[in-house]
Amino acid sequence: MTNITEVKELYHYVNGQTVPGKSGRFSTVFNPATGEAIASVPIATADEVKDVIAGAQAAFPAWRDISVGKRAEVLLRFRNLLFEHKDKVMEIICNESGKTKEDAIGEITRGLESVDLAIGAPHLVKGEYSVNVGGGINSYSAKYPLGVVAAISPFNFPIMVPLAQTSMAVAVGNAVILKASEKVPMTALYISDLWKQAGLPDGIWNVVNGDKEAVNELLENPAVHAISFVGSTPVAKYIYETGAKYGKRVTALGGGKNHMVVMPDADLEQVANSFIGAAYGAASQRCMAISTIMPVGDETADKLVAILKEKISALKVGSYENVESDFGPVISQQSKDVVLASIERAVTEGATVVTDGRQEELVASNGFFVGPTLLDNITKDMDIYEQEVFGPVRNVVRVASLEEAIESINALELANGVTIFTNDGLAARKFTTEIDVGMVGVNVPIPIPVGYHNFAGFKGSRFGEGHMFGPDQARFFTKTKTISERWLTPSEGSAVQFSFPSNK
Ligand code: NAD
Repeated sequence: MTNITEVKELYHYVNGQTVPGKSGRFSTVFNPATGEAIASVPIATADEVKDVIAGAQAAFPAWRDISVGKRAEVLLRFRNLLFEHKDKVMEIICNESGKTKEDAIGEITRGLESVDLAIGAPHLVKGEYSVNVGGGINSYSAKYPLGVVAAISPFNFPIMVPLAQTSMAVAVGNAVILKASEKVPMTALYISDLWKQAGLPDGIWNVVNGDKEAVNELLENPAVHAISFVGSTPVAKYIYETGAKYGKRVTALGGGKNHMVVMPDADLEQVANSFIGAAYGAASQRCMAISTIMPVGDETADKLVAILKEKISALKVGSYENVESDFGPVISQQSKDVVLASIERAVTEGATVVTDGRQEELVASNGFFVGPTLLDNITKDMDIYEQEVFGPVRNVVRVASLEEAIESINALELANGVTIFTNDGLAARKFTTEIDVGMVGVNVPIPIPVGYHNFAGFKGSRFGEGHMFGPDQARFFTKTKTISERWLTPSEGSAVQFSFPSNK
């Protein structure tokens, strides 16, 4: 963290207003394509977070008591405003994350899907009712909002992930505090105003900027009832364990090391095109990016690597200002250094370089660019075999059979996404049945579900039982109360009964 004053000073968004930071601590926001500092974001103290929580707590009861239909109307207006302002949102995303414009629009569109689903929240929170379950008693289960809930977001989807974490939470009647990524806080701050314009009462949507201190307050404060986290695996594990210790409901999604298995019968031209987009899009900074291509058999591998070499060598890396850029920079100089070091290390450990992203003009550039790198003959003893590299360095791991592919993938700790390319239905069925990964594709390179299906990995890619996107969000952000109700007429007796209530 640095103290800077020469660039735009950002703020928190609390109780329907922008609020300057009080801590005196700031983090720098960069334009990754130029390497320039563009803003400084305040880092909140625990006391500042306490105030945000108190404001959300005060706002919650009125929002809870508004009819579900009226809440859905606010969501619908927010959705329309977001759509109307999508070009401005795209510009902010490109500026602070370095994504290409096309990629930013793709992210906004997927974010809108979460809002669409949340507009339908009244349907998802319908309860159950049974009449006359015994002795004139009717019984019903109903879903109630939790109260104040928090979302902690990563840098790589400045709008899609925050919307996926929060839209349903708002729609079902909670008050939300978003701890946006300090690397990309401007998108979340911008949409705060759209929530206000949509008619969301003050205090129901808040953005607090900060680091571990702010997050710890959200984890420990008894007024916060649920935590939705998305980020790297070590932090996800910490969030889950700490949140659970303080009695919170927690879902913490972590990183990925996603494989694409290529059967010998697959069309290798199609495979190569699918792999390149899924592997290098967004400079490989997607939790569902394909990290490893796993051809079955050396013949398949040799042919595929030759096609990939030619196609990857033709990719264009550059700023979002250039429409020809296939992908942009990684998020920071630190990230660039880590990604470059991962290539160095793999080469030392014996990897074969198919394409080398350490091109002089990219390495020397002030922008945080790394070229597309493909490393062949990656083996289990190498660091890069299992590590998530959040930048354009991808692996080829050769296997002899489908069984070996399944066994190798199932042995990994990260289990977010996986895909198989084949025309053989039986192979695909065996794969989808036996693979132990949360999101599975068959001839689909990035099997990220649409907004109305549940999204989450397994094992080290997800701690806790909730999902992002999908109807499970309505469950995660509500508590189920079961009410047994009887109305006695004056003539009915009220004898004391000591036996356990039953119908017999
Ligand atoms: P990160 O874990 O560094 O940060 C995520 C959030 O946690 C940020 O808001 C950050 O401020 C906060 N944070 C960081 N360190 C913390 C600490 N020690 N204590 C408390 N809070 C802390 O992740 P990132 O670099 O922003 O995002 C990239 C990672 O997120 C990748 O690993 C990627 O795979 C993962 N990701 C996963 C999914 C998914 O759905 N599984 C989606 C997007 C990104």
